[in-house]
Amino acid sequence: MALVNEHFLKLPNNYLFSDIAKKVNAFKVSHPQKDLIRLGIGDVTQPLPRASIEAMHKAVDELASKDTFRGYGPEQGYDFLIEAILKNDYASRGVHLESSEIFVSDGAKSDTGNIGDILRHDNSIGVTDPIYPVYIDSNVMCGRAGVLEDGKWSNVVYLPCLNENNFIPAIPDRRIDILYLCYPNNPTGTVISKAELKKWVNYALENDTLILYDAAYEAYIQDPEIPHSIYEIKGAKKVAIEFRSFSKTAGFTGVRCGYTVVPKELTAATLEGERIPLNRLWNRRQCTKFNGTSYITQRGAEAIYSPEGKEQIKATINYYMTNARIMKEGLESTGLKVFGGENAPYLWVKTPRGIGSWKFFEQMLYEANVVGTPGVGFGPSGEGYIRLTAFGERADCEEAMKRIRRWIL
Ligand code: PLP
Repeated sequence: MALVNEHFLKLPNNYLFSDIAKKVNAFKVSHPQKDLIRLGIGDVTQPLPRASIEAMHKAVDELASKDTFRGYGPEQGYDFLIEAILKNDYASRGVHLESSEIFVSDGAKSDTGNIGDILRHDNSIGVTDPIYPVYIDSNVMCGRAGVLEDGKWSNVVYLPCLNENNFIPAIPDRRIDILYLCYPNNPTGTVISKAELKKWVNYALENDTLILYDAAYEAYIQDPEIPHSIYEIKGAKKVAIEFRSFSKTAGFTGVRCGYTVVPKELTAATLEGERIPLNRLWNRRQCTKFNGTSYITQRGAEAIYSPEGKEQIKATINYYMTNARIMKEGLESTGLKVFGGENAPYLWVKTPRGIGSWKFFEQMLYEANVVGTPGVGFGPSGEGYIRLTAFGERADCEEAMKRIRRWIL
């Protein structure tokens, strides 16, 4: 008899976005003539940069000829992409990494979800709350999160990110083995300063904590003082793994490409106290379970670092960030309190008069015909907020703001 991994059965059946879809469908059935504007799901709407399209066409042609055909590539990624990453994403910011510290993948969801493979099941974990759900669910699946009690997992330390602390959690008063940080943040759209991030790196150095730093939205940072990488902080290579994605940077949500940085100096302990380099373990894990990102995809990703590619992704990011500005101004003009949206494509909107996230979601759906994402779906501290994304079409963002103004004022 095959036995299931019973930890999977602990996961609540209702997935946030399917709950939203059900409510939206119910609305559509009862109001077939209304057209909805969806500012909920975090997928992009603008096409890939021209430079990537051309590079991918060229790569396809190479595969069509016997002389230039390529089969399996290196599990860690092709040198041409890794070199472009090292030069443009790191050396240009004063961070020097080796090529063997970069692992190209099919995106940050896989890597943030799979990284737990190389870590013992009984490490304690800390998460900022609200949070990108993959961090918790992937820990539930291997039993590391414990059991669900009153909406919280028993082995997870929740670090509330609230208006009162500027959405930067207080340093915990106890040690945590593994800590997830995500900046610019999904869902709150807020960022962390160098000084604040330094406190976390120092905490990790003092407490032998591993930081899993998700920088999937770093390309959206506008303020030159905000760090793009945790390795801009001294000592971080000893304590942090960093995740990056081409999804929101360059519209690769459907193409699939990202990468993970595991510095050589980063170690974790065995029960006997021996220090093991995590780079070695992640390399082993990837070589066993992953056969590399497609050559075509990696050529497409490399192209975003060309002069034209850089201009093209900048234009698209500006488009989304202009949406964010229009939305922030529109919402604020109704008296709503809005966070984020300045260095990230997410707006974190406080619901008025203490209305719950789901209630506000439904009101906005029925009365303004605009779809958001209830903040509580990202964790207990998200209650009383709704997340809107700036990834929509300009005209939809503008129309949504008109509708919300009409509804609220
Ligand atoms: N990390 C965060 C914080 C995200 O919001 C997302 C996607 O929405 C991802 C990772 C996943 O990115 P990818 O498309 O590279 O898997």
